[in-house]
Amino acid sequence: MRPLKNPGEITVIGGGLAGLAAARHAARLGRLVTLFEGSGLYGGLTATLGEVEGLVTAGHISGQDLAIPMLEEARKVGVQVIETGIAALDPGERLVLTDEAGTQHHPGAVIIASGGSLRKLGVPGEEAFTGRGVSRCATCDGGFYRGRDVAVIGGGDGAVHEALTLTRSSRKVFMVCRSPMKAMREPLDRLAACDNVEFVWDSEVTAVLGEAAVTGLRLRDLRHGGETTLACSGVFPFIGLVPNSGFVPQAWLEPDHKVRSDAALATADPRVFAAGAVRAGCGGTAIEAIAEGMRAALAAARYVQG
Ligand SMILES: Cc1cc2nc3c(=O)[nH]c(=O)nc-3n(C[C@H](O)[C@H](O)[C@H](O)COP(=O)(O)OP(=O)(O)OC[C@H]3O[C@@H](n4cnc5c(N)ncnc54)[C@H](O)[C@@H]3O)c2cc1C
Repeated sequence: MRPLKNPGEITVIGGGLAGLAAARHAARLGRLVTLFEGSGLYGGLTATLGEVEGLVTAGHISGQDLAIPMLEEARKVGVQVIETGIAALDPGERLVLTDEAGTQHHPGAVIIASGGSLRKLGVPGEEAFTGRGVSRCATCDGGFYRGRDVAVIGGGDGAVHEALTLTRSSRKVFMVCRSPMKAMREPLDRLAACDNVEFVWDSEVTAVLGEAAVTGLRLRDLRHGGETTLACSGVFPFIGLVPNSGFVPQAWLEPDHKVRSDAALATADPRVFAAGAVRAGCGGTAIEAIAEGMRAALAAARYVQG
């Protein structure tokens, strides 16, 4: 049974791994916790991953294997889950959160765990062919390109992760990279060892080409100049994240729109904390998001306890 205290004592914004870990931990510490999730897809960026790599446990664990038990455990310890996004955070004398339905909430402390969204290429054809060749989920859509050629755009961990998934079903996976790969060594070595992977270096996508569906990419050669065409049926852009921080006061953000925080994860307002991919300085792995969620929960619980 939930203890009868000031409702919404701690509010967590985001139901990704950082938010779920924060909400559960704050509730276990005895706080009354409300979690807002805007998309209804618990697990955030990991929700569609067929396998989350780099966990400290052995075996194959998908994003849903991780997130759904975390959600269930959070509910078991009394976290109230509301499937609405937060549209604004106003740090007046009382904190005011306005949700997407326009309802206002007055929590004692807030944990911002709203993560990031996959960055778009911003080139002609990308929007028009989304769902007709342009995809952001290899696990969901890789099967549509069985035996065909696909291109993954990007050189970070997300791009390598998705490319590894595509190597299992596609005939060829082109890795289109603008600059040297930034991904972790071990998965990158595994990708480079696949027979059906070809790296296309120093190249930038200038257009997604097609008619009824994608037929290829137009690429600019950044070293020698000029443009070429790469034939492929599927395009998977993974060129980094845009922080989901539009509802956060501008003055609390770094130039890249991530939320600034101190060593205790407090933002410019001591009642508001940040954790996970939305926070400047977060390492970018699932484990770090979970760990930061728990640290932010402890800091927020201490704050509301006075
Ligand atoms: C393609 C890809 C592959 C990856 N593979 C791995 C891997 O194999 N291993 C690994 O360790 N890490 C991996 N990562 C990184 C890992 O997914 C992230 O570090 C981690 O998921 C970040 O969690 P988060 O909770 O901080 O943010 P997110 O996962 O982004 O979750 C944020 C949540 O907040 C919600 N939200 C956003 N705005 C609002 C709002 N205004 N109101 C309410 N809710 C809101 C979103 O809907 C989302 O559910 C991968 C990332 C990508 C992109």
